[in-house]
Amino acid sequence: MDRKEAEIRIRELRQTLWENSRRYYVENAPTMSDYDYDHLMYELEDLEKRFPEFITPDSPTRKVGSDLANSDLSGRTLVSSKKEFAQYPHKYPMLSLGNTYNIEEVEDFTARAARALGREFTYSCELKFDGTAICLTYRQGRLFRALTRGDGVIGDDVTDNVRRISNIPVRLIGTGYPDEFEIRGEILMPYKEFDRLNKEREDNEDAPFANPRNAASGSLKLLDPKEVGRRGLWCTLYHIPSPDSSFKTHDEAMRAAASWGLPVSDKRRICHNIKEIENYITYWDTERKFLPYATDGIVIKINELEFQTELGYTAKFPRWAVAYKFQAERALTKLVSIDYQVGRTGAVTPVANLSPVQLSGTVVKRATLNNSDMMAQMDIRTGDYVYVEKGGEIIPKITGVELSRRPAESTVPEFPKVCPDCGTPLIKEEGEAKFFCPNQDGCPTQIKGRLLHFISRKAMNVIAGEATVEQLYNLGLVRTPADFFDLTKNDLLRLEGWKDRSAQRFLDSLRDCRKASFEHVLFALGIRYVGETTAKAAARYFGNIDRIAAATEEELLSVPDIGGVIAGSIFNFFRDQRHTVEIQRLRAAGLKMSMEAPESNLSESLQGLTIVISGNFSISREDMKSLISLHGGKNSSSISSKTSYLLAGTKPGPEKMKKAEQLGVKIIGEDELRKMLPEGSLPDKGADDEEIQTDLFGGMI
Ligand code: NAD
Repeated sequence: MDRKEAEIRIRELRQTLWENSRRYYVENAPTMSDYDYDHLMYELEDLEKRFPEFITPDSPTRKVGSDLANSDLSGRTLVSSKKEFAQYPHKYPMLSLGNTYNIEEVEDFTARAARALGREFTYSCELKFDGTAICLTYRQGRLFRALTRGDGVIGDDVTDNVRRISNIPVRLIGTGYPDEFEIRGEILMPYKEFDRLNKEREDNEDAPFANPRNAASGSLKLLDPKEVGRRGLWCTLYHIPSPDSSFKTHDEAMRAAASWGLPVSDKRRICHNIKEIENYITYWDTERKFLPYATDGIVIKINELEFQTELGYTAKFPRWAVAYKFQAERALTKLVSIDYQVGRTGAVTPVANLSPVQLSGTVVKRATLNNSDMMAQMDIRTGDYVYVEKGGEIIPKITGVELSRRPAESTVPEFPKVCPDCGTPLIKEEGEAKFFCPNQDGCPTQIKGRLLHFISRKAMNVIAGEATVEQLYNLGLVRTPADFFDLTKNDLLRLEGWKDRSAQRFLDSLRDCRKASFEHVLFALGIRYVGETTAKAAARYFGNIDRIAAATEEELLSVPDIGGVIAGSIFNFFRDQRHTVEIQRLRAAGLKMSMEAPESNLSESLQGLTIVISGNFSISREDMKSLISLHGGKNSSSISSKTSYLLAGTKPGPEKMKKAEQLGVKIIGEDELRKMLPEGSLPDKGADDEEIQTDLFGGMI
């Protein structure tokens, strides 16, 4: 691979890892397996080692994934975004763990530690609990504060929620605890509670959680502590961070914590060499299947605290610990047949029907095959024995074929040439892995899919589900979302089993959904590739639908979180007259097409100005762009004669400076911008606690 290719691949990998990290930590809805995510990370680490000139401090190899909602795609905490929880800095950074799927690398870790320490030491081997990290502070024996990992430097204050977790003591027992100390651990959702919650969500037509980890971290961030109490969360604690601890070993600290009434695992073992570590790993690889909660590996820590301090930390991990991760469980079963399903965007997905098989506590009967290319790559045939895995996703996937068991009568599946629903010939657009049904306006599955998406909980949150949409569609009452708002009670009484009360309830829900924010409306429109996060980012950035509709692809690209494919999709959506007519009807029905009144410090001070920024500022570049937009200005990424100002920070790009001078574009600095904005719009350069950037890690490498 040459330098140029490496640069492109590094950029691609970072983008993919950032996007998936956000889905995992913030949205609690991963679409990639941990194994795949980790292997992309290893590829990036390897490329950065070979091409160190492309290392940047915001690379996912250098920072922990952020669970803060007010973080941008690269995990940087944004000062100008709204926060749902108060946020506080961690006393000691909350880091991740170096991980491996390979026992030889655990051996390397032990050898490295032995070389570096040159003295006798022991290991504490523990289960790696698969939940979400928490940091508890106890002050004078009482629970004082609970923070999530956040971006590693600051965390969300979830104390009220944590008080509802039954095995976390609000008051310690025993004696000898420090006046104030932190203890860290994991919040988990036991399988039993997870199954109960998902059943409840399915009954309410809410999307089920993909796995107990996502359910635990989603529940911990609920805004209603009472509901958190009902979720049956559970906690296990595994680390007291304190460089000046009075304990000699980690084990001693954990025993003391247990004596104070804190929930500490009794599955910990002290090991003396790699053989004992391997035995512990082998034992738990099988035994963990009988635990009531999820674990995804083993953590091996140097037990002596003095040696931990000696080994220290990298920007992202302690050097005194490593996680050995278990391979995702997989099962072998027979592929009985393949269905081809059409989604709301027209994408056709092959879904395998399997002989039922037990996998990670549930019976699996169906699995996704992704697309025709994947099927061809695996050379999969109906009748084959296939490997099924559950990754981060709720739907298991087929990861391979056991060729040695291929029956003589197996048949090569034929991908349909026409839409299985409406019979329209399928097309495959350039750069797309999937086939699409282009019959947007006539394909019943697509039409119903769009209607369902529009009313779903995360979009307009109308109380109705698939059965209602099906009936409304079959009776010819609704074809596009705007038709919902033309429905009368008499129309609804035509639905089977509907009485005055059910009709009124539906109409009330339609009336109430008009209160949904513009962010939700934008998401509900179902623009391809525009998920909740992108809709939120675009809504906040542009403020109203007309500005989004008028934006060029270049302007769309200035929005944090929006890349080339999404920008193209949004741009094309608004060039389609069917969509503009639909938006007009929704607007007339009273849906919000702009953000609520701006916050008090926002203004129109930069109205009519197009600004290009270059260099670094006292706030992050993404924040600076949001700030310009929130004060009515337009951001642009390149300088032209239409540019009003080049806003130059420290180390501005020489090309941009040259071009601005050539075209006579005025160059201003942050101080001049500050004068153009209402007082207090830009934080003082001294930066307070809330503006801590994750770069703080920089000094620790
Ligand atoms: P991690 O989950 O691999 O390991 C570190 C964490 O383990 C710690 O922060 C702690 O919370 C936890 N832990 C559990 N038991 C522990 C114990 N006994 N001692 C110490 N710590 C313990 O790291 P992470 O930074 O939280 O997450 C990164 C991982 O998350 C990735 O390796 C990947 O597998 C997964 N991920 C997946 C996706 C996806 O799309 N599937 C996206 C982002 C991250």
